[in-house]
Amino acid sequence: MTTNQTIVAQSLAAFIGTYSRFPVAMISGQGCTLTDADGREYLDFLSGIAVCGLGHCHPAVTQAICEQAGRLVHVSNLFHTLPQTELAALLVANSFADKVFFANSGAEANEAAIKLARIASPAGRYEVISLSGSFHGRTLATVAATGQSKFHQGFEPLPQGFVHAPFGDLAALARMINPATCAILCEPLQGESGVRPLAVEYVKGLRQLCDEHDLLLIFDEVQVGMGRTGTLFAYEQLGVTPDIMTLAKAIANGLPLGAMLTRDRLAQAFTPGTHASTFGGNPVACAAGLAVLKTMLAPDFLPQVRERGQYLAARLAEIAARHPALARETRGLGLIQGLVLTEQGLPHGPAIVNSLFEQGVLANFAGNTALRFIPPLIVTTREIDRMIAALDRACQAVGG
Ligand SMILES: *Cc1c(COP(=O)(O)O)cnc(C)c1O
Repeated sequence: MTTNQTIVAQSLAAFIGTYSRFPVAMISGQGCTLTDADGREYLDFLSGIAVCGLGHCHPAVTQAICEQAGRLVHVSNLFHTLPQTELAALLVANSFADKVFFANSGAEANEAAIKLARIASPAGRYEVISLSGSFHGRTLATVAATGQSKFHQGFEPLPQGFVHAPFGDLAALARMINPATCAILCEPLQGESGVRPLAVEYVKGLRQLCDEHDLLLIFDEVQVGMGRTGTLFAYEQLGVTPDIMTLAKAIANGLPLGAMLTRDRLAQAFTPGTHASTFGGNPVACAAGLAVLKTMLAPDFLPQVRERGQYLAARLAEIAARHPALARETRGLGLIQGLVLTEQGLPHGPAIVNSLFEQGVLANFAGNTALRFIPPLIVTTREIDRMIAALDRACQAVGG
């Protein structure tokens, strides 16, 4: 019998323990609902960590994957393929960028961005300034770029050329610019450290600093890109255009795919042999990506994300008002919303997540700061209402 218990026991025995997981095995998914091995259903406000933007097993994505898997799965980047070409062209047509490089993950997309920034900059310029609280991935360079020391511990010495500016302090960042600086790397909204948006004025200031000092502005939109914030890319809402942007997570609704986008002038610094990936731009992943992007570009899709995001934010604000001892405020953009806990509420974050889980609702506690709600972008107001009712009970259960 394959039950949660048997699968979890086998999994714990066989896997290196890098993950602390909920004690269930997920078997199937449909829309915003997941089903575990014991047949229990969950309302998913995590989307596989902002990956399944179109929900689980979206018919257009499933069809694209099945058709492409029956036609061609892999040929390497020694050849052109149709899905990769079409996806790159559609990303370019709908962004600031002229050119795309495909990788397999967010960390790999950021590695490509860092390598491009270095090779495209004058000799002697290699240093990247990123922000404290940021998250950019788990490879050594992206760990070094990540502005949270808990991800560094045990892995020193880290690759050189990365420094971290205090969050939101433009003057402090300006003081860190030196002759070795080549780029500023940031998330328009920090996801992992607790749904922390950067102020529009701050981001405009970053753009200005980059222009004054001839630095490259890199936006890591791995978590917030692909419709999550209610526009296809978060930079559109900030009125600030980066020089390089990275995408991954939701780009192929769960198939491994990352992308690094930039303008022609910079793209020219990458020539045959300077950078590559065996799997990057895999035809099946790109066919899924194409189905995702076409679905998101339908005229009603993004306006609905904005509308649902406003609804979710308003309902979370009600929770904050009903439980003032636990919750301080709600913040976010579109359908990435965080309920920020009070000093007194912080120790209860994990218990609230567990109570939600016991009620069949999936969410998480990001950065030990905010409960993070990142449902599939197709979430309905009824599903939001169900989550809110469970959250209300969870707050009551921990005594708030
Ligand atoms: C998840 C994430 C990454 C890393 O992506 P992986 O696919 O896990 O390598 C990088 N940056 C941000 C902002 C992320 O949220």
